[in-house]
Amino acid sequence: MKLNIDGLLVLFPHDYIYPEQYSYMLELKRTLDAKGHGVLEMPSGTGKTISLLALILAYQRAYPLEVTKLIYCSRTVPEIEKVIEELRKLVDFHEKQTGQKLPFLGLALSSRKNLCIHPEVSSLRFGKEVDGKCFSLTASYIRAQHQQDGSLPSCCFFEEFDAHGRQVPLPYGVYNLDDLKAYGQQKGWCPYFLARYSILHANIVVYSYHYLLDPKIADVVSKELAKKSVVVFDEAHNIDNVCIDSMGVNITRKILDRCQGNVATLQAAIQQIKETDAQKLKEEYQQLVQGLREANVARETDIYLANPVLPDEILQEAVPGNIRTAEHFVAFLKRLLEYLKSRLRVHHVVQESPPSFLKDIFEKVCIERKPLRFCAERLRCLLRTLEIADISDFSPITLISNFATLVSTYSKGFTILIEPFDDRTPTILNPILHFSCMDASIAIKPVFERFQTVIITSGTLSPLDMYPQILDFRPVTMATFTMTLARTCLCPMIVGRGNDQVTISSKFETREDIAVIRNYGNLLLEMSGVVPDGIVAFFTSYQYMENIVASWGSWRTFSGTSSSSSRRRMEPRRAWPWRSTRRPARTAEGPSCCRWPGERSPKGSTLFTTTGGP
Ligand code: SF4
Repeated sequence: MKLNIDGLLVLFPHDYIYPEQYSYMLELKRTLDAKGHGVLEMPSGTGKTISLLALILAYQRAYPLEVTKLIYCSRTVPEIEKVIEELRKLVDFHEKQTGQKLPFLGLALSSRKNLCIHPEVSSLRFGKEVDGKCFSLTASYIRAQHQQDGSLPSCCFFEEFDAHGRQVPLPYGVYNLDDLKAYGQQKGWCPYFLARYSILHANIVVYSYHYLLDPKIADVVSKELAKKSVVVFDEAHNIDNVCIDSMGVNITRKILDRCQGNVATLQAAIQQIKETDAQKLKEEYQQLVQGLREANVARETDIYLANPVLPDEILQEAVPGNIRTAEHFVAFLKRLLEYLKSRLRVHHVVQESPPSFLKDIFEKVCIERKPLRFCAERLRCLLRTLEIADISDFSPITLISNFATLVSTYSKGFTILIEPFDDRTPTILNPILHFSCMDASIAIKPVFERFQTVIITSGTLSPLDMYPQILDFRPVTMATFTMTLARTCLCPMIVGRGNDQVTISSKFETREDIAVIRNYGNLLLEMSGVVPDGIVAFFTSYQYMENIVASWGSWRTFSGTSSSSSRRRMEPRRAWPWRSTRRPARTAEGPSCCRWPGERSPKGSTLFTTTGGP
């Protein structure tokens, strides 16, 4: 279907379009024309993603110099894959319509855990382990050592990519994670680094929010993306939480204990390097005198330990004298750890601001603000100088140094809360220090400043004017589109009591009440007698659903009823049987979710499912 959206020819890969999709595209086009930011709300299931992709792709093709790239941020890997599938359909449609191959590259990017093809590394269970192991095979100094001594381990996929992959751009097409892995296998190149490198010349990149919002990752992955890119945050109703979480740090006693081990390892490594290669430490010292910019000529694979947001001017300054030598820095870390340990000795909740924390640390252990600000970068330099291979072991001390940098960089928008008990074990003393971000705009500010257009979109954003306030930006468009329904098919009804006048509610305290369970069952039974089509009954959780259905099954009133027993189905806990049972039912007539393979009509069927189903 070809559409004229305010003078722009848009190819839409469906035969019909909802009115709200058309209006959505119109507003989106206006936002792109104005080169400003937008907040657009449209209910889930109305085809937001395809409308967005169709319009932006058409815009990119019509004005290639105005919009060079679309950065589509989604929350989870399945959502990323879904967007890529929509994009694939759209590109196929374009190619069918134009009869030629589209010079277009669209790809998904995810973590090493989802893209690694190294047989040993990819079999590791946790993302952190995969990152750490990959680092230990690909860090620049490890590779330099490997060149001297071929018996040292390295990753052949990275070496191949480094040798040949950069000269040959990824062929045009749309790549999901599996496609990237298959291409990497075929060429012998690392798909993760290939994807990271390819996002620079891709037309559409789909990745997780964190690649833009988490300063520890954004600086590594998204640093070089052009200003003329359009950024879309899909399902952005909790974007403020993502921003806040990405800047927060939680410190427990266990972490501090592990930090002691890290410091001891650093000390031993410094001692060893002093005996074998003291020149290295001297060189590092000289570099730090020049400033961090020179000391950190970041190499692609070394940036696993990227710093939190560090103001640019800091990178120009010389590192403070009291943490410049490796020994002094380690002594500084020890003092910082002792101080943090003392702060965790609390019996009541303490709340304070970063300035009062800095005042206290200065008074108690004479640590000033400036060296604290450099802590994350200084640690990173030291780990590189010491050529420590397994960097994942150093995550506790990295966390502490990130905290030190953040607490000394931001005086507003953060708070420190020290609690004696963990929420999960309120009777056991287990102090925890929360360094929490209270201002979501801090993490997202660089995104609004850097990119020409940022679109915040979701099915539930109302009240819309809340987002510009909490994220501190000025949108050029804010619009809500409602779902168009061909007939009146919504009839909200609140049932507060059963037919025996007992209050029915799914609230936790009354869930196990026999009368409530019975009344819910009666309600469902009576409804299925009058509703012409099938019924979908939502439960608050799988466990509750299973318990309540088991109770009904044991009562003769419910188990003997024909329609409910023969056509009653429960959503399985795992996603794949759910999808496989749902898919064949889609093609036939009637509400698909209520019909099952082999059943000709959905009438009288009841599907029991949970509110957060797949
Ligand atoms: S370089 Fe790529 S293939 Fe090699 S270990 Fe790292 S992520 Fe895996």
